[in-house]
This record gives sequence, C-alpha cells and structure tokens, in this order.
Amino acid sequence: MKPVVVLHASQLVTLAGPKRPRIGGEMSDLAVIRDGGMLVRDGKIDIAGPSKEIEKKARDAEIIDAGGRVVLPGFVDAHTHLIFGGNRLDDFERRAHGETYEQIAAAGGGIWSTVEKTRASSDADLFAQAKRRAHWFLKCGTTTVEAKSGYGLTVENELKILRVMRRLNQETPLEVVSTFLGAHAIPRGLRESDYIDLVIKEMLPRVASERLAEFCDVFCERGYFDIEQSRRILTVAKKLGFELRAHVDQLTNSGGAKLAAQLGAITADHLEKTDQEGIAALKSANVQPVLLPGSVYALGSTFYPRAREMIDAGLAVVLATDFNPGSSPSVSMPMMLSLACTHMKMSPAEAIAASTINAAYSLNRGDKIGSLEPGKLANFSIFDCEDYRELGYWFGFSQAHSVYVHGECVRSGGL
Ligand SMILES: [Zn+2]
Repeated sequence: MKPVVVLHASQLVTLAGPKRPRIGGEMSDLAVIRDGGMLVRDGKIDIAGPSKEIEKKARDAEIIDAGGRVVLPGFVDAHTHLIFGGNRLDDFERRAHGETYEQIAAAGGGIWSTVEKTRASSDADLFAQAKRRAHWFLKCGTTTVEAKSGYGLTVENELKILRVMRRLNQETPLEVVSTFLGAHAIPRGLRESDYIDLVIKEMLPRVASERLAEFCDVFCERGYFDIEQSRRILTVAKKLGFELRAHVDQLTNSGGAKLAAQLGAITADHLEKTDQEGIAALKSANVQPVLLPGSVYALGSTFYPRAREMIDAGLAVVLATDFNPGSSPSVSMPMMLSLACTHMKMSPAEAIAASTINAAYSLNRGDKIGSLEPGKLANFSIFDCEDYRELGYWFGFSQAHSVYVHGECVRSGGL
C-alpha cells in the first residue's frame, strides 16, 4: 500500500496526550497543530506535525491536500441501538400531537412495535437496513460505533441481531463494537422472573460461547429492570467475561450510578437524574459517564445530565448519539456537540474530547483510535471549516468533506 500524506489542515486536531481517558482541564487540550499534516503508512499514522515537516517525507506518497480545512480523528460513538426493523414515524407524529408515552404504547407504538418489526425482519433485510445507516454515520464523520442488541428479546432474535452487527463490521468501513442488551425490556407475555432466567441461563452463555459481544448492558429503570435484577444479570455477565455498561438514572434517580460503580462497569450511560452522590460514586470507581443529549432533545425534554459537575468532579465524560428509532433518531455526532455546548455548557473542546479519545477508551480501544498519534489507525475526517469550534456551532447538517478509515477514503463529496 502506497504511503499517504495529508497536508495543509488549517487545524490538525490531534488530541495527543496521556495514554488514558482525559479528565478535568485535560479535556480542553486538543493538541491542535496549525497548518498540520500527517504521514500514513499501512493504514496507520506514522508522523503528525507541521505540514512543512511532513512535506519533506512525502516523496512517493499519495498526497491529500486538506486545503485549509479542519482534520479530526474519526468520531467514536459509544452508545447506539443501530440494529432494528422499521422506524417509529407514527410515534413521532403522535408525540407532536401531544400524546403521552402510555397513549402511544396503547396505540401500538413504543419499543414493542420495534421488537415486532425486528423479529419479522430476515437477516438479509435487517442487514440491508443497518448498512444504509452505517453510511449515514460515516457521512457525519463517525468511524467507530458501539451497537447494542435488545430489539429481539428471544434467544434466536437476539443472536440474529448480534450476527448482523458482526457482518456490518466485516462488510462496511464502519467499525462496530457489539454489546448484548437482552435486558432491554420484558417481552409481552412473559413473567419478569422467567425472562431474567432466560437472559442469564440461555442468552448470556450463547452470546459468550459464540463471541458475539464484548460488553453486556442492562436498562436499569422503573418498569424495566430494577437495581437487584440488573445486579443479578450484570454479575453473571461479568463472570462470563463481558465488560459492563449500563443504562441508568434516565427517568428516575434509582441508584443506578452507584450500582455501576459497585460492579466496576466501564460506563454508566444516560445519568439525566443522577445527583451529587451518584457522581461521587462514579468517581470512586472511575466509571466513565456516557451522556446522550440527543434523546433528551428528541423527547422534547429539557432535563439534560449535569455534565459540568461531572467534568469538575474529574470524570472522563463521553458523548454519544444513543441512535435508536424511538428516542434519538440521529447518527450525527456534530449535532451532539451542538447540544452539549448549548444545553450542557460543555466547551467545544471538551465536547470533542468526549466524542473521540474518551469514547475510544470507553470501548477499550484507546490505544488504537480516538486521536491522531503515531501508531494509531488513520481514521480521520476532513471538515469543510477552518476552526474546530464550527463543528458544533453550525448545526443540523454535516460539514464532513471526506472521511478516511485505515488511510483509505470511504466517503467524499463535501457540502
Ligand atoms: Zn440507549
């Protein structure tokens, strides 16, 4: 493979720094190189530095002229529900008319309608729908996503979803990291205790033996899985070798953050209702908070998580889309940057650290992606702007000019 040289980035946003997630003031240091460039060999970054220096090493390399645009590591989206059948357009319209969640569910909408459509989709159909969405992510500058199962809720359907993820990872340029979320909801017609037994005794061992997921997640919330049920499922998952993530404190402050800390989870996600005590618990176990402003926005709420307090407490905050058909139908990380700066009072630099390097560490990939440093994969995007702050400032459209995975262009065209 011919070496590749990137030249003349107005800002090469490297995020070079310590080999661990960024906390406190470190989140504001993006290690920007003005008129920056990179030399890429065999899909990995060899050197990053001022264009003048990189140019000298260009010789037989293929040259990519960034033309005074911003270059950023590919976004790492650490929380998505990427694989599902259909959409929830009817729910969207009903919400616009002021109907409540209960009314929508009674009219045949809600999560159950997605479970039915996902079960009814063949492997090929589910893959085709997911592939289209994978390209949406790439279009917005995201090169790695975490994806959760959870719309199957039977052994075969959960496995079907996880196999679609594996195929997506193999057959598209988007890197997909799999999470098993069998404990997403109690399926209709089953008793809670019977379903939890099914998750623990059949699903988890099958997913583990087929190596279909690295992480296990639980929706810990009133009406879904309570603290003790969540603890039971996650404890078994940990024994089987899964790393843990958990949906906690989204609608009620039920002590989910504390549970994540007690179990040594890598992340605690949502946290809209987490209080000071929960934040302290997360810090005591270095759990990374994954904040999901897209779902707050799309549900029409104003109850955003306390990002400022979390950063001030020294937590390595992560931002993600929570892409799903019900509460966050957006793949756009730039949109999340906008929401984080506008509604959560994160600075533009903090929001970028949270959606690249910190997100990479939350997926156990901090040594490979999330920053533009020698030895890391050449996953990066060129954006049609001169200043990284423009990414969250102009909102509602993608400014991605071109996107590269392992040094190869996977998306181009610009505005
Ligand atoms: Zn979620």
